[in-house]
Amino acid sequence: MFEKILIANRGEIACRVAHTCKRLGVRTVAVYSDADTHARHVALCDEAYLLGPAPARDSYLKADLLLQIARQSGAQAIHPGYGFLSENAEFAEACQTAGVVFIGPPPKAIRAMGSKSAAKAIMEQAGVPLVPGYHGKDQTLDTLARSAAEIGYPVLIKASAGGGGKGMRVVESAGQLAEGVAAAQREALASFGDDQVLIEKYLFRPRHIEIQVFADKQGQAVYLFERDCSVQRRHQKILEEAPAPGMSPERRREMGEAAVAAARAIGYEGAGTVEFIAHQDGSFYFMEMNTRLQVEHPVTEMITGQDLVEWQLLVAAGEPLPRAQEQLAIQGHAFEARIYAEDPDRDFLPSIGRLEHLRTPAENLHVRIDTGVRQNDEVSPHYDPMIAKLIVWDQDRGGALRRLGQALADYQIVGVATNIRLLSALVAHPAFAAGEVNTGFIEIHRSSLFPDKQPVSDHILALATLGRLLYVEREAASRAHESGDPWSPWRSTSAWRLNDDNMQTLYFRDGERDVSVTAHYHGDHVRLDLPGGSLPVSGELKGEGDLVADLDGVRVRATLVRQGEDMVILSQGASHLLTLHNPLTEGMEDEVDAGSLAAPMPGTVTRILVQEGDTVATGDPLLILEAMKMEHTITAPRAGMIECIHYTVGDQVQEGVELLVLGGTP
Ligand code: ADP
Repeated sequence: MFEKILIANRGEIACRVAHTCKRLGVRTVAVYSDADTHARHVALCDEAYLLGPAPARDSYLKADLLLQIARQSGAQAIHPGYGFLSENAEFAEACQTAGVVFIGPPPKAIRAMGSKSAAKAIMEQAGVPLVPGYHGKDQTLDTLARSAAEIGYPVLIKASAGGGGKGMRVVESAGQLAEGVAAAQREALASFGDDQVLIEKYLFRPRHIEIQVFADKQGQAVYLFERDCSVQRRHQKILEEAPAPGMSPERRREMGEAAVAAARAIGYEGAGTVEFIAHQDGSFYFMEMNTRLQVEHPVTEMITGQDLVEWQLLVAAGEPLPRAQEQLAIQGHAFEARIYAEDPDRDFLPSIGRLEHLRTPAENLHVRIDTGVRQNDEVSPHYDPMIAKLIVWDQDRGGALRRLGQALADYQIVGVATNIRLLSALVAHPAFAAGEVNTGFIEIHRSSLFPDKQPVSDHILALATLGRLLYVEREAASRAHESGDPWSPWRSTSAWRLNDDNMQTLYFRDGERDVSVTAHYHGDHVRLDLPGGSLPVSGELKGEGDLVADLDGVRVRATLVRQGEDMVILSQGASHLLTLHNPLTEGMEDEVDAGSLAAPMPGTVTRILVQEGDTVATGDPLLILEAMKMEHTITAPRAGMIECIHYTVGDQVQEGVELLVLGGTP
């Protein structure tokens, strides 16, 4: 086994590899770009080297620099992870030349699978079933048209050098072929610098089933069963599982043996995945082979109890495979959900930003989280927007599915938009529970997976209002505490202090809708006037923003995250954004001097929540004014220091007068 390896990657996969190395006592060398100086993978490894600026071509793709760092640090091998240089035959070769072990297959195996057409020719020779199609060198339209007619429409045109769904075109009839071929060729040339295409029969709503294979230098090869990755959004996998629903032991053996034959045909070594496309009738065809560790490898680890990164290290170090085929068995069922920073409301565009709040479900025997980020990390525009892989395991599919639903509900992310809502909807879908998966799943169930946005419920409004009132109370109390005034009413630690017989209205913006909630204080509880009626509530705010609320006798929990005037309420797996605003001050801002805070209406000062010299953050409550039997909280429009308070409790003020002066931060 190696003493020390270099991990030529970042994010979750770099952390994943480091994790196994740590367990095996192998020392690790991390590399990072300027954007990743404080990244989790850098912190996890024993030493770390800066590669260069953020763009991958200036950092993670710099083959020469990586080899230089390997030499300098004394790393004996390089683990490429996935993506970046993992399927780059020249890099694998350069490692060989430099005397550093490339933890992956031999360069010639990578090359053999690099072209879809060439790979198909090899697989045909090896007796692996292929989708009916044409993958020859003759690219004339005549030949392509004749082949398409023989296969039968609809057909799929693919770029031979393709990947990531680029250069793929469905052609419904002979009349559209010329146009489809031209478009696929243009896209292929632009993306891969090679316009060779192939034609396949277009299968209707097939399944994507792939086989994990492993081979060692001694000539042994095994399969570690299948993964079903049919649930895709735009040909990109988002939910994977193992074993595949409905797979019979005979079909499993047949597919496994075909995959091993494919690996043997190209002299494979290490971890590889043979991807098949499977027809609803159970027939299956070779699609391509990925010559690296796959993103979704953890589901295989969960059902086999094997650590595939450990296997990779052993094989690369020249050891035989740790298990023979008959020593491998499937236990239970596993799912992986890919949590992405992308915005479902903006057509799933990557969502860039800081992870202001990040809380994950507890990890245990059933729940595993592979991630490269922590709270306060940035999701940068330079790399893949995947935040984490959530992996669950249980004895059977139903149990694992239940755990996945619960773990998704417990995954709290504020700061960037995520696809968690879609994942939760998928997992809760009856057709998914029934195992009716295919590559068209999201299209078929679109209307139920993407329901129209509903206004925030009274339940959430009640939690938001209660949480806000408790926050105001807590902050005022802590300020009074700091001030040392023994007579301040905020020094009392009884649970509910806003106990006068008065009321306060909070104005929320919920998307396009404006909604207000009035709170009436009644000693130990508050009665809220909500759009749907009145509700007695009470509660307690704990720690960072954990709310334990009693809503008319029902005890519920929620988490509140504040960002200025924005409040995110995380409850039962859903997150709701509400923005606090004050309709009375809106439109007046222009008239008011930026540093001062003016009374929005004539009234009485009932509370002053700050003292001169206090520093405040945007949205902090400063003073409460009562008018028309309603309370209005004056909040800080920006961060700063309270320079002067012009009034005391009980004073009458006229509309527009300056109540206090907010200076800059000292
Ligand atoms: P890429 O390498 O660009 O990702 P693949 O060949 O791996 O392309 O195919 C990606 C996805 O496209 C598959 O998972 C499947 O959903 C769909 N697909 C591929 N080939 C076919 C086919 N012959 N018929 C129907 N769908 C297909």
